[in-house]
Amino acid sequence: MLELLFRKKYFYPDEYKKTVFDVDFPSLKEKNIKNIFIDLDNTLIPYDIHKADKRTLELFDNLHKLGFAVFIVSNNKKERVKLFANMVKSRYVYSAQKPFKSGFRRALKKVGNPDPKTVCLIGDQFMTDVLGGKRMGFYVIVVDAIKRDSEKWYTKYNRRLEKKILKRLRRNDSDFYDRLNLQEKR
Ligand SMILES: [Mg+2]
Repeated sequence: MLELLFRKKYFYPDEYKKTVFDVDFPSLKEKNIKNIFIDLDNTLIPYDIHKADKRTLELFDNLHKLGFAVFIVSNNKKERVKLFANMVKSRYVYSAQKPFKSGFRRALKKVGNPDPKTVCLIGDQFMTDVLGGKRMGFYVIVVDAIKRDSEKWYTKYNRRLEKKILKRLRRNDSDFYDRLNLQEKR
């Protein structure tokens, strides 16, 4: 199974950035990206925080000004996702079941089913965000997790798989792995 996913390059993000604040959004516009799908937990806020801080509010203001359609796409429950999405004035998909396609399809439908190449997905996990986003044909940016110690058991499980994936990536395709230049210990 993993072998097949590897062969299809589903674990190859297009970019790595330390945080969402390091993403060069104007350059995404130049790449014809029109839709930004962002993971919530540990990409925008850690699991034990519910609200967006000032810097995050400014980031979303900026995204809206740049003209992106912005979606929070999260595997978490409605209450948490909705609260945050309303704060940053964005639409949302909860219980997205990443890496499966259903949640992404729900978001795509709401923006009129655009070409997947016009979508950039930003997230912190290889097993859910990178795999899910690449399966959809999105442009994928992986970021470091904000805070790991409050992660739930299933995320910890995914992290163990992630370790294997990265080990394999390093072994099978060291050029790509080096170019990615991951700074976080995963
Ligand atoms: Mg996450």
